[in-house]
Amino acid sequence: MRVVLVSGGVISGIGKGIIASSSGLLLKTAGLKVTAIKIDPYLNVDAGTLGPLEHGECFVLADGGESDLDLGNYERYLDIQLTRDNNITTGKVYQAVIEKERRGDYLGRTVQVVPHIVQQINDTIERVAKIPVDDSGATPDVCIIELGGTIGDLESGPFVEALVQLRHKLVRDPESSFFNIHVSFVPLIHGEEKTKPTQHAIRQLRSSGLVPDLVACRCDASLDDATIKKIAFSCQVDLDQVIGVHDMETIYQVPVLLEEQGLLTLLHKGLQLDKIPLDASRK
Ligand code: ADP
Repeated sequence: MRVVLVSGGVISGIGKGIIASSSGLLLKTAGLKVTAIKIDPYLNVDAGTLGPLEHGECFVLADGGESDLDLGNYERYLDIQLTRDNNITTGKVYQAVIEKERRGDYLGRTVQVVPHIVQQINDTIERVAKIPVDDSGATPDVCIIELGGTIGDLESGPFVEALVQLRHKLVRDPESSFFNIHVSFVPLIHGEEKTKPTQHAIRQLRSSGLVPDLVACRCDASLDDATIKKIAFSCQVDLDQVIGVHDMETIYQVPVLLEEQGLLTLLHKGLQLDKIPLDASRK
């Protein structure tokens, strides 16, 4: 199993969905079958009851699932068809665990966030990552997982814990890999690009148990070389692991912007596309 996790820091609504979709599209151009999961750490079971003014479009999937608008972006960018299961919410996770508890599946045991909720999240991710998303009926090679909100939010804690455990498992499996894109924000203040919010965001990511393989910095205009150097130095990553994602005229230009900065090469290396045969990762 190959996983690309797209997480975020500093502020929400920063462009994680577009970066997740664009990364998936680049992997698709390399011949991989790509699926996607959106994690929304709210208690609503689905997006059908959310106000569109606050939350944006409710995207209705082919199976009738009412989901976050990011699933619409995944479908459009990747030309795939997703199901309601590709949108995991806190509401769905708790509903499943409480149903199991009422059925007596945990008889005699105290049902807790750790391990039961965390286990339910990872069981769901591992099951959904294998659901075919195109007419070929083949198991996807890579699953892009976008974690809504920002790392450090109280409500996303169980998901972060689950992803830390998933990473731990996948990096030890010779037929699996895990790549974390952390999306941060570099504000321009009095003409100066400020890196401190990114430094804190990466520190928070690392303290939660995740490790950045790529720091994607959202910014107004392309980043100065000095800013990239400062972020790489202060976040203990290589220069090629920092990329700038500035505002584009249309979001469909973002895949090219990422590719120009070498994202596919990094993904190739990070996901070990050369070492692990596609057939093995489909297991
Ligand atoms: P998140 O997933 O972090 O909440 P989204 O991916 O939904 O954020 O993006 C938030 C908004 O910003 C959307 O309206 C999206 O179209 C826009 N956006 C994201 N990235 C860019 C970009 N590089 N250039 C221009 N607009 C962007």
